[in-house]
Amino acid sequence: MKSSQDLKDLLNRIDHRGYPAYKETQGAYQFPGYILSIDHVQGDPFASPSKISVHVSGLQANFPSRLYDQPWKRTALCDTLLRLFSRQAESFTFKASGSGKSGLISVSKCGQEVLARSACTIDPGDGRLTLRLEVGFPANGRTINARELIKIFFEFLPVCVKKALFFKALDSAKIQAVIDLSDDQQAIRRQLPPLGLCAFVADGAVLPRASGISQKSMAGAVTFKSPASMSVTLNLSGGRTITGMGIPKGITLIVGGGYHGKSTLLEALERGVYNHIAGDGREYVITDSSAMKIRAEDGRSIRRTDISMFINNLPNHKDTKHFLTEDASGSTSQAANVVEAMEAGAKLLLIDEDTSASNFMVRDALMEKVVSQDSEPITPLVHRIGQLWKDYGISTILVAGSSGAFFDKADVILQMDQYIPKDITKFAKEQARLFGGASPQPSPESQNGVQSPDCSHAQNDSGTCPAPDFNRIPLAGKNSPAPASQGRRGPGSRENGRDNRVKIKVNGRDSVSINKETIDLRYVEQLVDSEQLTTLGYLLAYAQNHFIDGARTLTQIVDLLEETVRSKGLASVCESSYLPSGLAMPRRQEIFAAFNRYRSLNTGKDQQR
Ligand code: ADP
Ligand code: MG
Repeated sequence: MKSSQDLKDLLNRIDHRGYPAYKETQGAYQFPGYILSIDHVQGDPFASPSKISVHVSGLQANFPSRLYDQPWKRTALCDTLLRLFSRQAESFTFKASGSGKSGLISVSKCGQEVLARSACTIDPGDGRLTLRLEVGFPANGRTINARELIKIFFEFLPVCVKKALFFKALDSAKIQAVIDLSDDQQAIRRQLPPLGLCAFVADGAVLPRASGISQKSMAGAVTFKSPASMSVTLNLSGGRTITGMGIPKGITLIVGGGYHGKSTLLEALERGVYNHIAGDGREYVITDSSAMKIRAEDGRSIRRTDISMFINNLPNHKDTKHFLTEDASGSTSQAANVVEAMEAGAKLLLIDEDTSASNFMVRDALMEKVVSQDSEPITPLVHRIGQLWKDYGISTILVAGSSGAFFDKADVILQMDQYIPKDITKFAKEQARLFGGASPQPSPESQNGVQSPDCSHAQNDSGTCPAPDFNRIPLAGKNSPAPASQGRRGPGSRENGRDNRVKIKVNGRDSVSINKETIDLRYVEQLVDSEQLTTLGYLLAYAQNHFIDGARTLTQIVDLLEETVRSKGLASVCESSYLPSGLAMPRRQEIFAAFNRYRSLNTGKDQQR
């Protein structure tokens, strides 16, 4: 191992030389208390900054193992260390000067959610900490300014490392509180299934956000209070308990006047698949981790999804068991989103009328009289929601303030009233009964008109519906796997000395491009961080290079990807000698969602359809 003095000597030697001489610094150097590793050196001062990692041994970092002996604790600990490091780094960034990105010191920015990120990891075995950051190596024009880099490596970084990564320098009570919170969140998550619950919202939670562009909590908001009938008390560690609203599995309807907080509650539940930091207001809003927000998404592509449980007999005789389109309508996109969520293992669907296609949700009785059943390809959700629960064990939480059609399907009906939920199940059911059945029932004539042999046109949800076909094979009909030498190399790999990197480019939270193709993920609303999109880009590129062979199903491909990440780590998926710093792990559901929107998988047999 080279010493920090070796690095200093080298930097003094290459000072004033051309920028490429910086490449010589690549390697690992022992600093007092940690190893500084220069993993990748930028090509010029304006290029993407150099990749650095800092490695602190377990002995030096000295975090007690009770702070990292469980996966959720490791995620919480690394998240908080990253935030601490980031605060330090911010005070030093661009303090070293020069052209282009000279002097930049940057680490991942964490939002309100606590995510596992490549930027900071702790080894469960020995407590070794790794922090990954980017540094703009300083230059004047294109001439190396090594004195400024010496400042960064020998003055600035040691302070950041010491203040953020050594346990003895930290406020141990604050760190303990972070770990305790993660333990409590985990305890709540664990207690939901045995209690038959799919979500929990604690009394006192603050659900609304500061603004449409800020995920911070709203000041002065009305705090959450469970209706007495749904109040549950859960156990936390140390004999403490927490009380709040337990949403039972099954069908839950949220109604209420406009502006009374329906969508705000649903959005908090969407984000409840992740843990939140202290002070967020949603720390104790915990949702079934597989929950999937379902919405209309006009214009998306659909890759042979079996949407026949919702859509049949389209006027152009399009095959809805293997539905293919480059430009879906509101209803077909929402149907595909439901079926794909089932395929991805979601046990809870979250649906808001604000973002739904109305013809996908309901059809009223008068319309069923006027437009005969045979002319209507859509079996709306209201006729499938019961089967999703009974036949597939999939719960739904649905915001529907403008239609009473779901009253007789729902197990629980909540009314949001001035931001406070009221349990109106009994009253609403009674009203629905007096009204003569609020949900539109088909006339006997239209039932007789059912022509298809399956139940796709049955307008009530009695009887079962054939399970959707999930055996979708990307690039079906292709004979053999693409040899790796065909140029579809993973990011960072090299062949014959040439760099054949797949280019991954992320546009915020909205889309990721793999080479030239953009995958639009704007409406995959539970992606909360651009780093999740970067990871999706790497995962898809890797799958394309290694797993998509025209024979494996999408489920098999996603299984293989998850297994590769589990056993070999994210770095192996990036096919890179070092782990890029800006990666956050998406859920299985979002990996499916990204494949489902990747248009270039539409080749092979697809093209002949
Ligand atoms: P709905 O979906 O019922 O029409 P929204 O959930 O969109 O209503 O909420 C309407 C407005 O009220 C939003 O601006 C939201 O930020 C605000 N809001 C929601 N919940 C609360 C609350 N608990 N306290 C204060 N304001 C809230
Ligand atoms: Mg709304």
